[in-house]
Amino acid sequence: VRQNGQPIYNILLRDSFDEMGEAIAFLSPEKKRICIVTDSNVAEFHLSQMEKLLTPICSRLISFIFPAGEAQKNLDTVRRLYTALIEAGFDRGDLLVALGGGVVGDLTGFAAATYLRGISFIQVPTTLLSQVDSSIGGKTGVDFDSYKNMVGAFKQPSLVYMNLSSLNTLPEREYLSGMGEIVKHGMIKDADYYHWLRQNTDKILNRDYDILEEMIAVSCRIKKDVVEKDPTEQGERALLNFGHTLGHAVEKLCGFSLLHGECVAAGCMAALYLSGIKGNIASQELNNCRALLELLKLPVTFPADLDPEDVIQATKHDKKMFAGVIRFILLNRIGSAYIDNSVTDEDMRNALQYMGLEN
Ligand code: NAD
Ligand code: ZN
Repeated sequence: VRQNGQPIYNILLRDSFDEMGEAIAFLSPEKKRICIVTDSNVAEFHLSQMEKLLTPICSRLISFIFPAGEAQKNLDTVRRLYTALIEAGFDRGDLLVALGGGVVGDLTGFAAATYLRGISFIQVPTTLLSQVDSSIGGKTGVDFDSYKNMVGAFKQPSLVYMNLSSLNTLPEREYLSGMGEIVKHGMIKDADYYHWLRQNTDKILNRDYDILEEMIAVSCRIKKDVVEKDPTEQGERALLNFGHTLGHAVEKLCGFSLLHGECVAAGCMAALYLSGIKGNIASQELNNCRALLELLKLPVTFPADLDPEDVIQATKHDKKMFAGVIRFILLNRIGSAYIDNSVTDEDMRNALQYMGLEN
């Protein structure tokens, strides 16, 4: 990944963790302290192997494990991590390794951005969502009270190392949730990729290694290209929010009983419908998309007991609001997205009705 033409960090796709030690030693040859940050689920499957691999290449190794779940992505967990780092004498030359999904990656990145005004960190994403999305681009942060990602920083990792085999232990629902973001990538940036996904749903469901490898590589490239053009979200990067305006609103109103990628999948349907209202997308395309998401066992409607007015209200608290206007990301066609400032509350009511909510 480059910034202003300069290479900043590499994204490695591998089928094991075996090259981790070598990759870290390549970054800087002196031995340093390393702290592996992970959650309780990931620790159970992958921590002992990671400790074994990193022990020979560092001067001191500690592991910080917190209970899995979005509810732990907060300043209190960061505080406990700071304490662990201080007690082990970590200084600015040392390294944090984020081993886990987006929760671990966001929290570790934020701690790395702020501990001693910044120390290095490495992303080792172990969920599909974190491999194709959250580990790339340098957005880090934690939730504050009920506000998602309210406190954060831009902090680029020194390396993103993904072991595709680590996905084998990922629960089905978490895996498919990641597909929500992947389908989104095809819709906003690459029609050929979108159709390739439609043709390969069986292999995707079976986590066929070759298909996974190709899919993750293409999605990482899409994410990388977007963040290179717009590292701090001034414009282009907003396109990644396709499906997120209504998706986030619903995610919040459901008290996070739906996973993020599930809300994004349904949110993509809603955004596609809105693109249809603007005359950009034919109804056949809506049906194709619905069929794809259904094959991937992702939701294509919003929970019917939500009040549409509550959803509309919730979109207005979203960060996507800019100077009082809600910025929707819509499609010109499959594979091409743009920022639209013309979606009215009435348009949203229609879209929410299409998504199964009663007025
Ligand atoms: P997550 O980190 O909570 O992981 C999902 C679940 O899977 C957790 O229970 C975790 O313990 C478990 N898990 C992770 N890897 C596993 C493995 N290999 N085997 C078995 N279990 C495993 O959730 P996520 O979906 O990876 O990430 C969601 C988070 O990412 C949200 O907090 C969201 O805000 C954030 N996010 C950030 C960005 C960004 O640009 N920084 C982008 C998108 C999402
Ligand atoms: Zn998302």
